[in-house]
Amino acid sequence: MSETMLISGVAGFIGSHLADYYLDKGMQVIGVDNFITGNPKNIAHLQHHPRFRFIEHDVTEALYVDEPIDYILHFASPASPIDYLKIPIQTMKVGAMGTHNMLGLAKAKNARIMVASTSEVYGDPLVHPQPEDYWGNVNPVGPRSVYDEAKRYLEALTMAYHRFHGIDTRIVRIFNTYGPRMRLNDGRVIPAFMGQVLRGENLTVFGDGSQTRSFQYIDDLVRGIDLLLHTDYHLPVNIGNPDEISILDFAREILELAGNPDLKIVFRPLPENDPKRRCPDISLARKILHWEPRVSRKEGLAETFAYFKGLSPEELRQTEHKNFDDYIKK
Ligand code: NAD
Ligand code: UDP
Repeated sequence: MSETMLISGVAGFIGSHLADYYLDKGMQVIGVDNFITGNPKNIAHLQHHPRFRFIEHDVTEALYVDEPIDYILHFASPASPIDYLKIPIQTMKVGAMGTHNMLGLAKAKNARIMVASTSEVYGDPLVHPQPEDYWGNVNPVGPRSVYDEAKRYLEALTMAYHRFHGIDTRIVRIFNTYGPRMRLNDGRVIPAFMGQVLRGENLTVFGDGSQTRSFQYIDDLVRGIDLLLHTDYHLPVNIGNPDEISILDFAREILELAGNPDLKIVFRPLPENDPKRRCPDISLARKILHWEPRVSRKEGLAETFAYFKGLSPEELRQTEHKNFDDYIKK
């Protein structure tokens, strides 16, 4: 009998790629999602897969599963600033109660669990690039705090389960990741810019565009996650691409990719507490996982642009995510 993995957030961007990866490796995959920010289309191709089972469930509620589980990947959480600003309570609940439930399930099943943390735990960092032993500079009451503090709590709770209950845990600190199956309207900079060029709109750069990010392609992340899962390292590990670029230069790259000379860059106000610089120090991942990113921004952006180009005209026009309204009422 092959091993079984449960993935929370399976209908999201990263979760759906993880499901593909572990199904390809021959595992049984149980996917869990409530579609709050995800998309059923991301897992539609798995509907009839003999080793895939889907449970529609909100992981902030207890989850009972009959069969044995070997691994849990807890990836459920809104991840884009627009999403977590619109659904702040759900964001805190999935980071806190959702993580508690997934750790409880790992304890009940004696499963190894990895939780998805983020570079946002470093806040607006004062140390550059960010190593894992930097404790961060987070505003605990700013608009982004619902995500940042939920993820800091997720890390603390995971370490408590590891130290107190001896649960076999992993914490991955993911830096900005992109690729096919991101939601075009999730507000993150890559889908935002790609949606704009495909609709023939100008690119909106927030602030003066001097803030930096370091973008990692999904395939590199998935490979890093798998390597980390198979070590015995319990403290957080950064997985990201250290190729740093300013948002203004990045907008210019996207204009070049689009090849439409009519489009321009327009400037919009910088959101509150938007981190000024972000770049992972990946020395630890290099050392313990022998991992480093392989996909260049040029290659990754070409793959991602091809995906967004394949969306229907109706999908391209959608700027709102219809699922929020239902959940906000709950
Ligand atoms: P996403 O929004 O595409 O996917 C998240 C998925 O979780 C969605 O399908 C959503 O419906 C589901 N979900 C949310 N709350 C839930 C709940 N209460 N119960 C069940 N399902 C729920 O986002 P993503 O980019 O795929 O991010 C996945 C994980 O990786 C998140 O935990 C995020 O914090 C983390 N992460 C992502 C990035 C990135 O750049 N993409 C960076 C750092 C961390
Ligand atoms: N950004 C931008 N224009 C947009 C969307 C985002 O200039 O239309 C900027 C945003 O202010 C931030 C960076 O791009 O500085 C990355 O934003 P994203 O939402 O992708 O993720 P973050 O790294 O801030 O969580």
